[in-house]
Amino acid sequence: MRGNFKTEAVVLRSIRYGEADRIVHLYSATRGRIGAIAKGSRRPKSRFGGRLEPFFRLNLVLYEGRGELLTVTGASTVDGHGTLRSNGAALGAAGRACDAVLRLLDSGEANEAAYNLLCTYLALLDADPESASAPGAALAFRLKLALAAGFSPELASCASCGEADHLAAFSGSAGGVVCASCEGGGFPFSEEAHRFMVDALARPLSEAPAAERRVAAQADRAITETLDHHAHVHLRAAA
Ligand SMILES: [Zn+2]
Repeated sequence: MRGNFKTEAVVLRSIRYGEADRIVHLYSATRGRIGAIAKGSRRPKSRFGGRLEPFFRLNLVLYEGRGELLTVTGASTVDGHGTLRSNGAALGAAGRACDAVLRLLDSGEANEAAYNLLCTYLALLDADPESASAPGAALAFRLKLALAAGFSPELASCASCGEADHLAAFSGSAGGVVCASCEGGGFPFSEEAHRFMVDALARPLSEAPAAERRVAAQADRAITETLDHHAHVHLRAAA
């Protein structure tokens, strides 16, 4: 696989390296997670300009050699998401989204659903930065990301015994909603939080349901505990 190849990718994290270089953590359309070095990218006249920064969506040319890190040899901007950068809440939401992708998706295999979801969420935050102050879309993003990574919580019936009724609690270790007889180890989970999660998964991200604070907190806890137990990944609170 040595040589140059092209892919689209989002910059998740950008770290200064040495005197003038930068190491970027990327989530790519065709190769999943990629770590790459951009040599000379911190020089004032670098051909990369300022585009190797978090939240940039780029068309990249990457060189793959013997080492673990690839080398960025070309970069052009698909979308810089300049508007979201002017809003603190949107910046925070974009940062948490990229952090969740970093923690949850570390494979070098393409995951088209995860890539498209990340691009959609960044585009939504950029189109309407104020939307970041409501937790609905942030939680819907995280839930859909868990689904794309293969760790979606069980919401249709009791995750322990399969019972379809009296689903009053959520258990991260069981990986979903649990019924009244299986609720040991779970936490109380309201009907509203349950409905929020079902709706958030069913609807496109741009139509994510709104959630009041108490509902959002329960949904956030449900997603976080599921990923703790099943993906062995701990995410910061979504909102
Ligand atoms: Zn049960």
